[in-house]
Amino acid sequence: MNEFLYEALPTRVLFGSGTVRRLRGEVERLGLTRVLVLATPQQARDAGALRDRIAGRVAGVFAEAIMHTPTELTEAALRLVRAAGVDGLVAIGGGSAIGLGKAIADRTDLPQIVLPTTYAGSEMTPILGETRNGAKTTKRGPRILPEVVIYDIDLTMTLPTPLSVTSGINAMAHAAEALYARERNPVTTLMAQEGIGALARALPAIVVRPDDRAARADALYGAWLCGVCLGTAGMALHHKLCHVLGGLFNLPHAETHAIVLPHAIAYNAPATEEAAGRIVRAMGGGSDAGSVLFDFTGRLGAPRALRAIGMPESGIDSAAAAATQDPYWNPRPVEREALRDLIARAWAGEPPVSN
Ligand code: NAD
Repeated sequence: MNEFLYEALPTRVLFGSGTVRRLRGEVERLGLTRVLVLATPQQARDAGALRDRIAGRVAGVFAEAIMHTPTELTEAALRLVRAAGVDGLVAIGGGSAIGLGKAIADRTDLPQIVLPTTYAGSEMTPILGETRNGAKTTKRGPRILPEVVIYDIDLTMTLPTPLSVTSGINAMAHAAEALYARERNPVTTLMAQEGIGALARALPAIVVRPDDRAARADALYGAWLCGVCLGTAGMALHHKLCHVLGGLFNLPHAETHAIVLPHAIAYNAPATEEAAGRIVRAMGGGSDAGSVLFDFTGRLGAPRALRAIGMPESGIDSAAAAATQDPYWNPRPVEREALRDLIARAWAGEPPVSN
């Protein structure tokens, strides 16, 4: 056993079906009396339903969250926080609504209760990505980590199948990179394998029957585990590439992850034999991790080509250049030419290559 460090993050997690009923108790437990409820415009109705559940303890609803957490929007929400004397935040939704809550908490230290409705995993991390004048920066900090997370399977039943698939693969990416992270440790490794396995079982079942409650439960359970991996282990090439591609070409977050993952894992496979083997086993077996993931995304009908989600071919070189600038730590050295080939294959939708 190699030396390791494991630091558990102090989020209180409630998991189950109908757990949204526990929201009022959690608000009271934290002593909150003037909560601001956050959501995207698409989930304004869900935010309204939460307001009704905690009636008498709500200062307002701000259903304006959008992707990539622009700081101007955070400033607008902060004006409301100050004007209404808000003493706590309740966010319902995916990474966009949760990101807004984190951005407010980072500036105010207000406690956060989060009800995740996608599989992206942001709720379990002390990480905040925000955009100022179009440039995205990422920071970590204890104020950013939500205090309470209420996972309610019922809230995920409406997640559209394509987003369920790509969001689930986004979660698997956190676990896959945690398996070879510098900060890997036995606890995170167990969670990563279990999380990948749960999503590998659940997502095909959700594609067949989006209202398969057992599969939805498995997927959310897997997403939780993968989110913990993202919060406790550093990420590498895959996350760097998605960050760069998303930022340069304004690509949708979950789809970008789904397309890049097989390629990034294949690129790192020669330097991460043990981790790659764990991915293959967690997914039920196969030849190599990159191919197993590529076949999986294909079977689920996820997008497999960056060109299909709006990346221009002329961007391949600039993406390779940006991804080799200021790289994240990676188990295999990040070589510009090899990375260019990787991005070109992902752009065209070709299978990944490991060498
Ligand atoms: P999202 O939050 O942008 O949601 C996508 C759309 O789906 C939104 O319109 C949302 O309202 C809708 N939606 C969500 N759940 C739904 C449901 N159950 N039913 C119907 N509609 C639903 O998507 P996402 O992929 O969860 O989050 C992406 C954002 O999160 C990105 O900005 C990304 O950078 C960030 N993120 C951050 C972290 C972190 O640790 N900081 C981790 C993962 C993602």
